[in-house]
Amino acid sequence: MHRLYENEDITVFWDSDKCRHAKVCVHQSPAVFNKDNRPWINISGAPTAEIWKTVSQCPSGALTCIYNHDIRIMFDESRQCALAYDGDAEVGECCYESSSDGSGSETVWTIVHTGVRPDHENKGIAKRLVFKVAEEAEKRKVKIVPVCSYAAKVLEK
Ligand code: SF4
Repeated sequence: MHRLYENEDITVFWDSDKCRHAKVCVHQSPAVFNKDNRPWINISGAPTAEIWKTVSQCPSGALTCIYNHDIRIMFDESRQCALAYDGDAEVGECCYESSSDGSGSETVWTIVHTGVRPDHENKGIAKRLVFKVAEEAEKRKVKIVPVCSYAAKVLEK
């Protein structure tokens, strides 16, 4: 499962397949990381500095985080993309093609492209975009097939 949690400053990524349940996060920041809550991460539960420090101590890599650099990530189902905005300007996208698996019973989102404008590279935007598409697919119980090599790397188990 892929989820992202955003406050004004940072985005926390959660990849459940990598979690070893060591509970470092739960002990370090119990107001943020609580397995009994849904969602289990409350990004408003502690100052950003505390959350960053806790995430950096996750031993498995299940939790990671980056600064937002004032870039907003939006999901646009009509365009089959997650989009990154700097103010009103689009600066990145992760796009998929929706199809049936052939039997007609399962929908598949094939991630075909992830791109960020050159002047916005190295800000973690592409990872946020891929996680956004994955999160939306998983919420709809849609299978993800990452043809885009960057997306495949981000989502590899
Ligand atoms: S610290 Fe990391 S590995 Fe441990 S429970 Fe939290 S997310 Fe899982």
